[in-house]
Amino acid sequence: VPVVRAQSSPEYIPDAKFYKVEAILRPWRVTRVSSALLKIGIRGVTVSDVRGFGAQGGSTERHGGSEFSEDKFVAKVKMEIVVSKDQVEPVIEKIIEEGRTGEIGDGKIFLVPVSDIIRVRTGERGEKAERMTGGRSDMISA
Ligand code: ATP
Ligand code: GLN
Repeated sequence: VPVVRAQSSPEYIPDAKFYKVEAILRPWRVTRVSSALLKIGIRGVTVSDVRGFGAQGGSTERHGGSEFSEDKFVAKVKMEIVVSKDQVEPVIEKIIEEGRTGEIGDGKIFLVPVSDIIRVRTGERGEKAERMTGGRSDMISA
């Protein structure tokens, strides 16, 4: 599979300190993606099983006059990763590198600005709440 890189970061992205990288991926690629993220110090990840349709599948059909949707939703995994601004591009690169097969259905990544982060255990907010012990920032500064 030839390597594909994300195009350079566009100017229309709203400025924020933190972003959520939301990736819809092939379920069988998720372990590979999360292991690679862990290696670059991304330790905070949330995944959910979802179903969807894009170019890969999904359609509404008419049968016997009554409309109903034929279930063509494809099983996917949604991976949500909140990171500081400087970590967004490495995370996107890694997801493409490990999640891509080059076939239709590899998924999509949505980038969402995040206004704040609060750690429930401590009440910490912002940068303090976003940082994780042994996370990417610690790794890079070490
Ligand atoms: P603590 O130090 O109190 O354990 P923590 O920052 O390590 O805080 P957890 O309470 O362990 O956070 O996180 C609970 C869940 O929140 C995780 O299992 C994960 O689903 C989600 N999560 C935490 N951080 C992130 C993040 N940066 N991005 C996405 N999901 C996260
Ligand atoms: N930015 C955090 C850190 O460097 C890691 C965030 C995450 O793992 N999602 O500690």
